Amino acid sequence: MTNSGSIQSTLQETRKFLPSREFSAQAHIASEEQYQSMWQKAKDDPAGFWGELSQELQWITPWKEVISGEMPETRWFTGGQINACENCVDRHLTSWRRNKAAILWEGEPGDTRVLTYNDLHREVSKFANVLKKLGVTTGDRVTLYMPMIPELAIAMLACARIGATHSIIFGGFSADAVADRNNDAQAKIIVTADGGWRRGKEVPLKSAVDESLTKSHTVQKVVVVRRTGQQVHMQTDRDYWWHDLMSDVDPHCDVVPVDSEHPLFILYTSGSTGKPKGVLHTTAGYLLGTTMTSRWVFDLKEEDTYWCTADIGWITGHSYVVYGPLSNGSTVVMYEGAPNWPDEGRFWEIIEKYRVSIFYTAPTAIRAFIKWGDHWPQSRDLSSLRLLGSVGEPINPEAWMWYHRTIGQERCPIVDTWWQTETGAIMISPLPGVSATKPGSCTRPLPGVVPEIVSKEGTPLEANEGGLLVMKQPWPSMLRTLYGDHERFKQTYFSTIEGAYFAGDGARRDADGDIWVMGRVDDVLNVSGHRLSTMEVESSLVAHPAVAEAAVVGFPHDLKGEGICCFVTLKTADSEGSDSLTAELIQHVRKQIGALATPDKIRYTAALPKTRSGKIMRRLLRDIAAGRESVQDTTTLEDLSILAKLRDSDDA
Ligand code: ATP
Ligand code: MG
Repeated sequence: MTNSGSIQSTLQETRKFLPSREFSAQAHIASEEQYQSMWQKAKDDPAGFWGELSQELQWITPWKEVISGEMPETRWFTGGQINACENCVDRHLTSWRRNKAAILWEGEPGDTRVLTYNDLHREVSKFANVLKKLGVTTGDRVTLYMPMIPELAIAMLACARIGATHSIIFGGFSADAVADRNNDAQAKIIVTADGGWRRGKEVPLKSAVDESLTKSHTVQKVVVVRRTGQQVHMQTDRDYWWHDLMSDVDPHCDVVPVDSEHPLFILYTSGSTGKPKGVLHTTAGYLLGTTMTSRWVFDLKEEDTYWCTADIGWITGHSYVVYGPLSNGSTVVMYEGAPNWPDEGRFWEIIEKYRVSIFYTAPTAIRAFIKWGDHWPQSRDLSSLRLLGSVGEPINPEAWMWYHRTIGQERCPIVDTWWQTETGAIMISPLPGVSATKPGSCTRPLPGVVPEIVSKEGTPLEANEGGLLVMKQPWPSMLRTLYGDHERFKQTYFSTIEGAYFAGDGARRDADGDIWVMGRVDDVLNVSGHRLSTMEVESSLVAHPAVAEAAVVGFPHDLKGEGICCFVTLKTADSEGSDSLTAELIQHVRKQIGALATPDKIRYTAALPKTRSGKIMRRLLRDIAAGRESVQDTTTLEDLSILAKLRDSDDA
């Protein structure tokens, strides 16, 4: 057993990329000195640092105190009153920005809509009045279960306008998942649509809501947007069409001033590690965090066309489709459907069409693009791009290199942003005008973020030793509680390491001070007493030319404690690897990262089990690798048939 159970790093990655002089010269944070002095100030005098930055927001009543209380009970900007909707919409109306595009929307079938800030203001104000008419008041919870259509952003902002707390449920979830979340949040109203478009098919939403309402009893009214036109059942005095309600309502609605700590939204986590948690975010700190990180990390400028491909149903969509960019007055692209509809070139077509300058997506998507082939991006003009981002999982270095070459054309800095539903905003990320980026590293903490890498006992580790990634100082956009379960909140995040926030990830810091997230500590392998990161073995496999994607898990092994089982999808259409390929892959990993990490089993599969936000669910694969029945929560799993197929092939 290695000392203090630290995670051994085997990944060798030495490539480094500096921002161009041209990029740095125009960046919001333009030099190492500027970053260092901001970071140091935020660490030494967080109240002074955040207090000054709070002037970037529009306040209704100035705050009295920036930070009060110790973690985990820290409160921010107490005494202040603010409104998130006013910050994202109204404040842009006093200048020419009034007529600037806020949302450039494209539906999957190809229909389009443009909403200027003035349009957004009108629609949001009207819908806020609709909510009031339906009996929603400040403090009520409103569930939004919708496709990626402008009405989703409108409904969120309308809730914020009147101080109602939204709880968004990703449109791909089942009726049961909706019922669970409605019950947990005690939602009064649901806003939904008849359906949404996904790969040319209509995803039924209203019928799922109907079913969910047989199991959740707090919901009194349902508002339905007509999107696909499919037949839906409308129950009198409960269900209303959005367009009917909007047709005769006052377009003026005053914003409701709320306290800084007023609950802005509840969002259930992705469920990669277990039952989803109802993360609660409050208003001022969250808004400040998302506003500043949007500007620092994406270097947002007035003339940018910014596209974050995440669904608004995930935290990335909350923070970086809606609140962060709109608070900055940016133009946001929003796309309803799948990246491979009608063909695998859809994203590149959208970038070319709207002249997207900033593109933010996830490793799972990047791995799919690689598999689909370079001819898709290569047949489009991507010269408008100036910055690329990644979020959601550790990015395999080879996927990073592909992104850099094929999409960024070696010109665009890549920001690999580490953060979580719980952190509300990006925590660790390159600053595009400053940082030397390295494939697979999220580099350094943003100003205001003070991470440490510690052993299980809480002692700080040496460079290159992997351990628990924790935060020792509070930050404005951190979660305040798990809705309705403050004990679980304290237990989940603040009980592992005394006095620090820990939410599950392992990491190491290299000799330059750059951080490499090594995946979830629950996923760490324990092979012959060595603790290895699954993500590093996966990255080695993905670096093999035949491999598209890999998930690595441990299984009980008589001699080694744990053996290494690799689930592999290949780039070629047929997923059947040969014995010779298996031998080659085992050799490849052995050569790249050492005998210690030699895979015991390689299993080929057409697809990996993922959450609906595209993250590999290793916990389910562990059961399969061990050949045991699973009793785990699978409500957030995207495609149950993948598990069934893997189980069947196990029996064979
Ligand atoms: P649950 O908490 O319910 O298990 P989840 O952790 O997948 O689900 P999210 O909050 O959506 O839910 O994801 C945050 C996690 O995603 C991080 O803890 C980390 O494991 C991973 N992650 C996100 N961005 C990065 C990144 N840039 N590099 C490495 N890992 C990342
Ligand atoms: Mg998590």
